[in-house]
Amino acid sequence: MKPLISLVQYAGSPGSLREAVELCSGLEKLERNTRVLIKPNLITWDDQFKIAPFGVFTTTRLVEDMVIMLKDHGCREISIGEGSVQIQKGIGTMAAFTGLGYISLVKKYGVKLVDFNAGKSVDFKIPGGPIFYIAREAMESDFLINFPVLKTHAQTKVSLGLKNLKGCLKTSSKKICHHASPGLEYCFTFIADCIKPALTIVDGIYALERGPLHFGNAFRKGVIVASRDALENHIKALKWDWGWAKDNTGPSIFEKFGVTGVTLPKYDETLCSGCTPLANMVNILVLSAFTGQPLPKIEILNGKKMQARSGYDSTVLIGDCIIKANKENVHIRKAIRVAGCPPDTKEVIDALKEAELHIDELAYWGYLKQQGEKYDNQEGYSWDFYR
Ligand code: SF4
Repeated sequence: MKPLISLVQYAGSPGSLREAVELCSGLEKLERNTRVLIKPNLITWDDQFKIAPFGVFTTTRLVEDMVIMLKDHGCREISIGEGSVQIQKGIGTMAAFTGLGYISLVKKYGVKLVDFNAGKSVDFKIPGGPIFYIAREAMESDFLINFPVLKTHAQTKVSLGLKNLKGCLKTSSKKICHHASPGLEYCFTFIADCIKPALTIVDGIYALERGPLHFGNAFRKGVIVASRDALENHIKALKWDWGWAKDNTGPSIFEKFGVTGVTLPKYDETLCSGCTPLANMVNILVLSAFTGQPLPKIEILNGKKMQARSGYDSTVLIGDCIIKANKENVHIRKAIRVAGCPPDTKEVIDALKEAELHIDELAYWGYLKQQGEKYDNQEGYSWDFYR
């Protein structure tokens, strides 16, 4: 009997992927001339500071191996679809496709690239929950290949087969997943009921801890997991979350350095991917303002449900959602509101300055640069997997 899940050591391309797919009979039900859609994980793109791709994006190399295999199988209509989060206006899915070498797949194999954010949608009602709007191409594909990365996620612990399917949702529905009710995990209970992948392949060439972005650390694991069942159970002990001070006043590093004054409660599941990088930026900038003396008494909130507390000189509210959630909050002495969905980076920086934090912007730009380059010249980390 063929195994339900295959786990293969990556020894080279295109052989290892072929082995993984054949071991779980991944293409057994795929007829020639079927329309195939591959859904990799291309979470977002940044055209200013390069994102170290290891464990963040599905490797382009394995996607190409999959295309080769499909071609050999006789498939002619192959599409690759994703709906990347736009952190910078206008820099979305197509920028990620371009930056990760997908244009060469178009030229070499005639595959079609699909931006899920741009096309039409199909709706799906979650039992006891909201209506989701899903990219039509994902719903109508004859054979969907779900191609996530082996990574952890600071809000959902792991980001494997199920979480990758969230990329098929329209932006408005992605945001709804982060609403306080019915909650992120509840939404995922049903996501595979509407988007049904025929084959799920977990790209574990690199595994990422403290994902989903490159601020966590990637490890060269060199494994491929494949299954016709998206709910595969592959457990790996990687840290999935960032530590926070016991009194919830900021990341553990604040406690370690003795930062006091500013309070940054830990992000919760209502924080969307659009605001997540801003939360990280604020942590670094607050740290940059610390000179050993107590910082001004400020509380900084994000997401959709945090409530400002009394005792602060000012409260910085980052994003339309948290502004709305605290509209009538009587504990706020001085509100510094950064509107936007997500807000503009510069306006967040200006808000911190308005709150009398003497931040050093260069510290953050330097941090981003360092994060983008941290695997350069390290053994086992090759940018060729993403070209
Ligand atoms: S403001 Fe931020 S948290 Fe609110 S919906 Fe927009 S991106 Fe999400």
